[in-house]
Amino acid sequence: MIQLRNVTKKYGDTTIYSNVNYEFKDASLTCFLGPSGSGKSTLFNLLAGFDSDFTGEIVVGTTNIKDLSPDELPSYRLNSIGFIFQEYHLLDGYTALENVLLAVYSAKNAGAKEYVQKAQKLLVELGLEPQIHQKVQTLSGGQKQRVAIARSLINDPAIILADEPTGALDQESALSIMKILKKISTTKTVLMITHDEELATFGDEIIEIEDEQLIVKKASISQKTVNTTTKSDSLQLQSNDFFRIGFKNFKIHLIKYVIAAILIACGSASFLGTVGSKEIMNHSISEFKEKNAYFNKGMIPKYDQGIEVNKDLALTYERLSSMKQVQNVYYQYDLKNISLTMKDVTINNEVKMPTAPSTVSMVYGNMPQDNKKEMVISPSLASKFEKQIQKLVGERMALSYVNKMGKKVTIELTIAGITDTQYDDFIVSASVEKDMYKNTTINNATSISFDVKGFNEIPKVQKLLIDKQVAVYTNYKQVENFNQAFTSLIKLFTFVSYFVLAVALFISTIMLYKISIERYKEIGLLSALGFKRKHIKSILFKESLLFSGLSTIISLIVVHILNLLYKAQFNYGLGLNLYSYCLLIAMNMFVSIVISFIINQKLVKTETISAIRK
Ligand code: ADP
Ligand code: MG
Repeated sequence: MIQLRNVTKKYGDTTIYSNVNYEFKDASLTCFLGPSGSGKSTLFNLLAGFDSDFTGEIVVGTTNIKDLSPDELPSYRLNSIGFIFQEYHLLDGYTALENVLLAVYSAKNAGAKEYVQKAQKLLVELGLEPQIHQKVQTLSGGQKQRVAIARSLINDPAIILADEPTGALDQESALSIMKILKKISTTKTVLMITHDEELATFGDEIIEIEDEQLIVKKASISQKTVNTTTKSDSLQLQSNDFFRIGFKNFKIHLIKYVIAAILIACGSASFLGTVGSKEIMNHSISEFKEKNAYFNKGMIPKYDQGIEVNKDLALTYERLSSMKQVQNVYYQYDLKNISLTMKDVTINNEVKMPTAPSTVSMVYGNMPQDNKKEMVISPSLASKFEKQIQKLVGERMALSYVNKMGKKVTIELTIAGITDTQYDDFIVSASVEKDMYKNTTINNATSISFDVKGFNEIPKVQKLLIDKQVAVYTNYKQVENFNQAFTSLIKLFTFVSYFVLAVALFISTIMLYKISIERYKEIGLLSALGFKRKHIKSILFKESLLFSGLSTIISLIVVHILNLLYKAQFNYGLGLNLYSYCLLIAMNMFVSIVISFIINQKLVKTETISAIRK
């Protein structure tokens, strides 16, 4: 029994129905005719409880729809109403059987098997036996509408509301659908909207909407009644049902989800790259230091080009020795009776003054390495042994000098490079030099050599000494330039990373938003089928979880690949540790859950009618 009592429905100032009183005949087919826009769908939306914005009463069986809470309405729909739409509203990606079962989704429930059998039986009865396991998007219009009819019948509702069910079908399919509905109407109350006057003649009763009223064009004489008492809520979804539906949806939208996940992954990986860039800088510096042990060498001469620049070397020596940033402090003196021999050429030098390494640049090769027996020589000196001076790099040279005890010492050294010094000169490895100047005292010292411990301490030591009016040679300028270049690089790198992150987040948000827009109808449908808001929320949340898991896994892979690329390119990776992986996982989880939560929040609030109407 469906009764309208003083029903008035308005959209703003537009009245669609005014004070309508009517009782529909049970167990009969009532057809609604009327021009487009006359309010046929509006009436069905009121009857289905999609729209509660009206005055008066709609009584179905013993229930006044007005009295139902938003949480009771889905149960009412589920138990009493089977809705058939003009556009079928089936879920693509699901099979015919799954679409039918969606209306009673709960395989864990006691009646699960029964429902599956019932769904199969309905589909067979509707002539869809071969299509039972076919994905619905591959069915013809007539087949789709029959799946929709099966879905409306699965829960055995007392009332079938069919809003232009034949509107999208050809004449033949439309006729077959009419016959099906006619047959159903022997046991159920079937209300149907149509534009086709010929099809309307199937109706036991024909109603037209005119002047905000229902006008009976053909009256039914049916006296049968259909029991419409509300059954218990049979849609009792369990947590793993949500997961199953969520997973299914996730699979259906997988490609889009994967693209969105890859974008988020690239964004967070590039962000992680920024965190790792400090590591890269440290690596570069230590690599540089390893190759340029001489870089840390400083020198304090007594004379510079004949002028006395440091009066009190002893005091400076003491000061240096007490500085915590400085090590390996020793006196140097002018070596006497030097001779250099290569093959059959020997060059004699009367005296060799200590050279400040920081004043020298390389033309060929490298500075001598700390613990190797190496030397570098100036071009003028090199040309005395070989015209093409670069050929000397890698050759061996014998160096003789007279040590402090007056004893002649000869050592074999490898030429590591050619300097840019303008006069005959050479520099030997730090370890070799330390040996040469062993036991030198202040009495014959002409300069002091020292090492600065940390690369970044060099400018500081330089400043400390200059402040004490000590004339000193260090590589502080190069360190400053080096740091400046690195700082700019890291800034650039950080900027690019944040930019990539922002773009990736933006695009993936749009992707997810697109997925969500396409699902607007789907969510509306679930709600029309009797899913409560909390059910839908739970399904979407499961999907978000899956998405965030996917994005996390992909980002771990992306970071791993990035790390390998870095290793191949620079010989060291991103400096990843447990902390960076935790950061990556946390970031991904957070970003993907927040984005999908915000988007889904909108989706959950979808109004059933507006979703179905689109
Ligand atoms: P039909 O008989 O074609 O199914 P409807 O019931 O869909 O007609 O619509 C009846 C009238 O109400 C139309 O003029 C339509 O534009 C208007 N209408 C429908 N839904 C809304 C709404 N949500 N807000 C305002 N007007 C609406
Ligand atoms: Mg309509």
